[in-house]
Amino acid sequence: MLADQPKLSAKATFRIPGPEDTPASLLDRWSNTYISLPAAVAVPDTEADIAALITYAKEHDLSILVAGGKHFASVPITPKTLYVDMSSFNSIHIDEQAQTVTIGGGVTTGAVLDALTTTGYYTSVPNTNTVGFVGAFLGGGSSTFNSVKGFLIDDAVSARVVTAAGKTLTLGQDSEGDEAALWHALRGAGHGLAVVTSLTVRIYPISELRMDDDKIWSRMTLFAPPAFGIAARTFAKLQPVRGPIALNLIITRSPPGTPAPGAPVLMLMAAYFGPSAEAEKALAALLDPEVVGAAVMATTALIPVNGVNSGTKPAELRGGLKRSEATLLKEPVSATTIESVCARFLQLGREFPDTTAGGSAVVFYAFDSSTLEASGVSEAARLGFFEGRNARCIVYHDIWFREEGSAEAVDAYLPDAIAIARASETGPLRRFANFMRHPANLAESYSEAKITEKKRVKDLWDPENVFWTPGFDRRS
Ligand SMILES: Cc1cc2nc3c(=O)[nH]c(=O)nc-3n(C[C@H](O)[C@H](O)[C@H](O)COP(=O)(O)OP(=O)(O)OC[C@H]3O[C@@H](n4cnc5c(N)ncnc54)[C@H](O)[C@@H]3O)c2cc1C
Repeated sequence: MLADQPKLSAKATFRIPGPEDTPASLLDRWSNTYISLPAAVAVPDTEADIAALITYAKEHDLSILVAGGKHFASVPITPKTLYVDMSSFNSIHIDEQAQTVTIGGGVTTGAVLDALTTTGYYTSVPNTNTVGFVGAFLGGGSSTFNSVKGFLIDDAVSARVVTAAGKTLTLGQDSEGDEAALWHALRGAGHGLAVVTSLTVRIYPISELRMDDDKIWSRMTLFAPPAFGIAARTFAKLQPVRGPIALNLIITRSPPGTPAPGAPVLMLMAAYFGPSAEAEKALAALLDPEVVGAAVMATTALIPVNGVNSGTKPAELRGGLKRSEATLLKEPVSATTIESVCARFLQLGREFPDTTAGGSAVVFYAFDSSTLEASGVSEAARLGFFEGRNARCIVYHDIWFREEGSAEAVDAYLPDAIAIARASETGPLRRFANFMRHPANLAESYSEAKITEKKRVKDLWDPENVFWTPGFDRRS
């Protein structure tokens, strides 16, 4: 039990958990796996508070875990954790002249979308509104707009950080020497290297997308099991995705309150970031009468840009036990692969019914990788930490379960399901760093050269390992 408190500013808080606290109620995380009560929870209000907390953690041999949107499902919280909640760093400042937005270290995606769209702008945003913007950036930042703008790291201009030495720095494209090394590592391998108090990224006028009424053409087609084959073939036919398209195929079960709760469903969701007439040509396969005839429901809508993530609303739910993994795929996914992934997912549900009660799903997100690849030729990209630039699809496995005892089965299912999804892949598995497992295997996300550089940067900037970092988990 900690006997003293750090000296913080008047608005900051510091709380040592009491007997009335549970990890779930105290931390309010997206997933309650791997968590126990931390040594203390701090909500800093200033950069000086963060520096004071770092000193305190070192004096008390604690490991700092910074929390933004609290969505990383593989974060371990232990009695040796000083949990630093960044929710007071919630400012958003748009600079229209510079065409940038500066976002506080605790801001979530939905707030960024609201602020930008109100002013007529957009940027690369993660696909779920409750995900921390900075947290997503640190692991690369796949965006709903991948086909148009690539990943979030390519839009980043600068970051303000508090280092493990308690020093405040502004890092960016002009940084040099060791500061440049830290900036590059933040872009894709940034978890646990420094506390980011704000991040500046480029923004773009919505009007440049030439969408009808500045709204996104979006189509949702829902299939029941007899039509899974035609849904899988339609998704396969639309690959490789070319143009300003976000195409998602989601295997899940009907939620409570629907006509057939618990029944398996396949959803094909497409968004087109351009004129509706172009959308109807590019995504004609979705309008094919045979496909429409096989579907339970098919709707087209024009949605405002701040509603771009409305389809992932169910995934926002906090609490419960969840595993979340994502793998990058570079080869087109075949219909056979999709049907095999479906079969394996449904088998898990039959064997472990508690995995069917929440929002368990497998999502194939296919996008046009041309922008990601084109940005990859720059020096900045070469020095950054995202190496999956030829990825055309991300396959997400989100498994929610109710019984602690099912964790083992879910952990056995995931590698199996990922191997099935990778049927057409050659080369080693490439796990998206924002979805590393616990304990993390860095080799699944980075090349040997990048791991060596990450170790060098970690030793340079956090030699006492005060920040929890995936793959450097010495204290917990
Ligand atoms: C439902 C869901 C949808 C997702 N969608 C996407 C997506 O579309 N694109 C994508 O790229 N990823 C996505 N992710 C993954 C997500 O980006 C990562 O899990 C990310 O780490 C979450 O950040 P967070 O701030 O919400 O989580 P937290 O658990 O609060 O933080 C995650 C990690 O980031 C660090 N961190 C957070 N904020 C700061 C800060 N200010 N300074 C220093 N370190 C910080 C934490 O220490 C921790 O290591 C999704 C995850 C979920 C669960």
